[in-house]
Amino acid sequence: MTPNPLRDFVVEMTRLSDRESEEARLFREATPLMADLIRRPDWLPRAYAQPSLERYQQYLLYCDPLQRFSLVSFVWGPGQQTPVHDHTTWGLIGVLEGAEQAQKYALIDGIWRPQAEEEMLEPGGLDAVSPTIGDVHRVRNAWKDRTSISIHLYGGNIGQIDRHVFDPNNGQVKPFRSGYALDSLPNIWI
Ligand code: FE
Repeated sequence: MTPNPLRDFVVEMTRLSDRESEEARLFREATPLMADLIRRPDWLPRAYAQPSLERYQQYLLYCDPLQRFSLVSFVWGPGQQTPVHDHTTWGLIGVLEGAEQAQKYALIDGIWRPQAEEEMLEPGGLDAVSPTIGDVHRVRNAWKDRTSISIHLYGGNIGQIDRHVFDPNNGQVKPFRSGYALDSLPNIWI
């Protein structure tokens, strides 16, 4: 078979999920796998790297049959951004192309407030979220004139998980499920 970084990642992540379920250890062992995966962008099929004028796109690249993890490509058009949101599970985020800016939020006196500086993630850079280490953030394309792509690994079938968006201005909380932009997945077995 021809080399396929996505298939290699899925195999290693499956092995890791079989032997480990504790979050800190998953982070530690998944980090080098993600670092390897985002070292080069050429493995991501074009269909899963398409921006949309309307909003940022989330393409499912793989979901573990036991829903212990999923891998998603986020494709950001110029200037696109998420609302302030949570994940309710652990996540590792790595930039493949372009650059991303992430602002973490913390609940202070009942209001979600920006915490520390906005963080710039460039190709090869990794960030982590989870209910234990800080789960609420807003992410945006750092570029106003080009597409950026990041790869996200989550501890569950992220598109089907019940999550929340937060309005930092009035404290309103809304439930949401992100879903996925396409019905198909890349074929990693060719
Ligand atoms: Fe997020």
